[in-house]
Amino acid sequence: MPDMITTATTMGTAFDVEAVRADFPILARSVHAVKGRPGKPLVFLDSAASAQKPRAVIDAMSRFMEEEYANVHRGVHYLSQRATDRFEEARRKVARFLNAPGDQCIVFTRNATEAFNLIASSYGRTFLERGDEVVVSVMEHHANIVPWQLLQAAKGIVIRVVPVGEDGSFDLDAYAGLLNDRTKLVSITHCSNVLGTVTPAKEIARLAHERGIPVAFDGSQAVVHGPVDVQDIDADFYAFTAHKLYGPTGLGVLYGKREILKRMPPYQGGGEMIQTVSFEGTTFKEPPMRFEAGTPPITETVGLSAAIDYVEALGREAIAAHEHDLLAYATERLQAIDGVRIYGTAPGKGPILSFTVDGLHPHDLGTIVDQYGVAVRVGRHCAEPLMDRFGVGATARASFALYNTRAEADALAESVIAAKEFFGA
Ligand SMILES: *Cc1c(COP(=O)(O)O)cnc(C)c1O
Repeated sequence: MPDMITTATTMGTAFDVEAVRADFPILARSVHAVKGRPGKPLVFLDSAASAQKPRAVIDAMSRFMEEEYANVHRGVHYLSQRATDRFEEARRKVARFLNAPGDQCIVFTRNATEAFNLIASSYGRTFLERGDEVVVSVMEHHANIVPWQLLQAAKGIVIRVVPVGEDGSFDLDAYAGLLNDRTKLVSITHCSNVLGTVTPAKEIARLAHERGIPVAFDGSQAVVHGPVDVQDIDADFYAFTAHKLYGPTGLGVLYGKREILKRMPPYQGGGEMIQTVSFEGTTFKEPPMRFEAGTPPITETVGLSAAIDYVEALGREAIAAHEHDLLAYATERLQAIDGVRIYGTAPGKGPILSFTVDGLHPHDLGTIVDQYGVAVRVGRHCAEPLMDRFGVGATARASFALYNTRAEADALAESVIAAKEFFGA
């Protein structure tokens, strides 16, 4: 059957995956070459951990450092103004990308993790009291669990957890049942990094807002796999991380509604975020700069700008369609293998496939498929409570990106079969 299947390109879809692959220099390399023996072509199925970078991003960052680099906001000189323009242009681009009502709603952070720590520290410590409740789901990344646990330790708040169904779907009824007069914040993933489940963000926000509760979303995976509109969702906060969106590491984004950000105190203190400093008292800038203490990741914002241009040029709907095709095909190929169990089959899920193989430890599986050049993640995927929910210690996870092909899904399936044979499973 596999040889009857052709790639998205040869099927004549508009999405030219071979042209896309040519934009990513690293995809041309092989792995595990040893003297006298060529390596295996790289089959990169770990983009949910971090995505590879297109030439456009690499070049934009190099060019910026070669031609326009200086520190931002403080200088009157030419380059500082140039760099500040590029930095603020990135903020506008991110605002447009999320359909935020303005660029002043966009705070640059170090990553998504810092965005949640910012919400928990600034909003949480100011507006939540002992006994107040924060609602998360069981499929959250640790980045959207541990900051609330730190707040729990500091303030005595209570964390309530929305369950998922057997197929990994968000339990909306259970969620609605958890909301009460003590609920002060809801913080839920928009797409699970383990199950691929896309949550009903708009409905989640609507139910919370009926009770006047603000809602934060973890968009780290969702922004990669489809269009996101924070105004349509009516998100109060929305966070993502640049490196999963084909951009650089060291940069994250926190969207916040203007009126909420304005009420929040600084998260960290230092340069860039102050109006005046004296030992009698210091005053702070308005958001977003109030939350951007110290020299920000400047070159990285230029890289994120280029990454956004790149995915928008390809078309976010076209990318989603391509990835959906890969997910369906890879699911079919893996399901045909005896002993494979897939976690997360909710309708409309993102292109993330977590699975186990009977009789095979995920780490052994990962090690063998790597010998075939196939890069998958094995472990708990920063989501231990979810592993407990499904009663597994770990899973293997293949995640698909805009540059993956059906042939790579074939390589995954074949390497899994080889691993089974190797271990006699
Ligand atoms: C990767 C990821 C994060 C954390 O991203 P960082 O860049 O490590 O901060 C949070 N949530 C989800 C769903 C993720 O996939």
